Amino acid sequence: MSLRCIFALALAISASLLCGCISNDEEASQEETGKVNVVASTVPLGHFSKMVGGDRVSVTVLIPPGTSPHTFEPSPSQLVDVEDADLYIKNGAGLELWMERIIQANQKMLVVDASAGVDLIEAIGSEDHDHGASSGGSEVHGKILTADPHIWLSPQNAMIIVENIYHGLVEVYPENADIYRKNRDDYLDELAELDRDLNSTFAGTNRKEFIVLHPSWGYFARDYGLVQVAILESEKEPGPRYLAEIVEVAREKNITTIFVDPNFNPKSAEIIAEEIDGFVVPLDPLAEDYIENMRIVGQKIATSLEG
Ligand SMILES: [Zn+2]
Repeated sequence: MSLRCIFALALAISASLLCGCISNDEEASQEETGKVNVVASTVPLGHFSKMVGGDRVSVTVLIPPGTSPHTFEPSPSQLVDVEDADLYIKNGAGLELWMERIIQANQKMLVVDASAGVDLIEAIGSEDHDHGASSGGSEVHGKILTADPHIWLSPQNAMIIVENIYHGLVEVYPENADIYRKNRDDYLDELAELDRDLNSTFAGTNRKEFIVLHPSWGYFARDYGLVQVAILESEKEPGPRYLAEIVEVAREKNITTIFVDPNFNPKSAEIIAEEIDGFVVPLDPLAEDYIENMRIVGQKIATSLEG
């Protein structure tokens, strides 16, 4: 063993002793359970935290299943959950407009911004945008204001998010670094496989446009060379002229599927579907089993492009 190796070893030992010290004194909650208490904003972020943390994390999701993250407000009882957290995983990209309240409930926890390092798309729509007044392009019009927050709905972004969560877990509980690293690597392999499969699924499709009620799939569309046409922009119901534009696009491109989001009122989607003699199909942006759900989403969108 070289002198350098011995020195590195000594450093590693003293570092691990130091960490043990910190966890005994300051991180009693971890010592009691042997787990990092993680609170994540959404179900998919909670799922990623479980995939990296394995049995060394206890995960709570703030925004309950079936709730739109765009209209959610944390309740006082949820702020109590936050008080026990060691680590908070926020989506970032403008999703958590109430983040200040979370930080105030627990100023000691580490907050990880899942969107760090993600190449953000700008969101479509603005308050003063009149859905009917735009001319020209059918899919992307409206004033660009803020980032599109639906970052997790791209396997490539998911890999960045998983990496961010891994770094947060290691920072909070370095003793578990080896376990977290192994779990992260296994899950990154699965995500890479998902990405490869989706790439080949969409490589040969004729049509690229798909119509959605709520624009959750912008990052997905970017990754696979598709075009998302959204009925709703900035959470507002579309006016009749904009509905007519969508119908026009659907007829022009022979689109018969209108994708709906279970968290949104499907009325305008149903009106369009009826108008074009098509049908509505749900896509869930917030399902628990991420990879399984993304495969289902990929199949549904690919099928709609065949028509
Ligand atoms: Zn959304």
